[in-house]
Amino acid sequence: MKYIGAHVSAAGGVDNAPVNAAQIGATAFALFTKNQKRWNASPLTDKVIASFKEKCLQYGFAMDQILPHDSYLINLGHPEAEKLEKSRTAFIDEMQRCQQLGLTRLNFHPGSHLKQIGEGECISRIAESLNIALAQTAGVVAVIENTAGQGSNLGYCFEQLAEIIAQVEDKERVGVCLDTCHTFVSGYDLRTTEACEATFKAFDEVVGFNYLKGMHINDSKTPYGSKVDRHAPLGAGEIGWSCFEYIMADSRFDNIPLILETTDQLLWAEEIAQLKRLAGILV
Ligand SMILES: [Zn+2]
Ligand SMILES: [Zn+2]
Repeated sequence: MKYIGAHVSAAGGVDNAPVNAAQIGATAFALFTKNQKRWNASPLTDKVIASFKEKCLQYGFAMDQILPHDSYLINLGHPEAEKLEKSRTAFIDEMQRCQQLGLTRLNFHPGSHLKQIGEGECISRIAESLNIALAQTAGVVAVIENTAGQGSNLGYCFEQLAEIIAQVEDKERVGVCLDTCHTFVSGYDLRTTEACEATFKAFDEVVGFNYLKGMHINDSKTPYGSKVDRHAPLGAGEIGWSCFEYIMADSRFDNIPLILETTDQLLWAEEIAQLKRLAGILV
């Protein structure tokens, strides 16, 4: 089954997210469990936790259909000790919030070396951060998102994702989220069926589909290989529909959250409906 949705608002409480997702016909969703632009957040109350679980049940969202995203401030590969520590503490808090909500995965951007340390050293710091966080939590898979390769952000090629995984001790609790926009602008073509075939073959060989725990379904405003991350509505960017047709028809993308982060929220219901049609769910 294809689980299709969008990164919906959790304003007013995380328990609003499943409601917002249901309203646009989603069968999956992403959310922030706290304000993504701030370091601190008040703990989740028992009332909100219970309400979140109840709403998910009511609207038919199993925990594996939900892909929470962590704060943008966190850099698990930070070159400076103090700031690395701050990021690790914040990431553990994010993992614990997911655990409290019964969520089974947490999507995050791997980290940046900020031109102060080498890529290899930064990757080792990221993996060490994950080992620390996984040891202090239970039941939540850390899902590494591939990046556009903007600035000094790592995770812009499949080899780097594989290297982080290689250094994580508990392989059962590490996974990958591929963002189609990031994949494309970082230099993997997705514009034709043949290009998708080659890109996902490379992904399978280097990382492995068994690690794929979610996808971000975005078109790209910027050209192939540009390393500039600008999402676009489906079909309105440089990637085009054939990529999304390919994904919806391929069973390797079954049973994971497929999440829109496209720029026009008013189009989400229609984009979801169109993806469902391509997947043969809706006629
Ligand atoms: Zn993304
Ligand atoms: Zn992006």
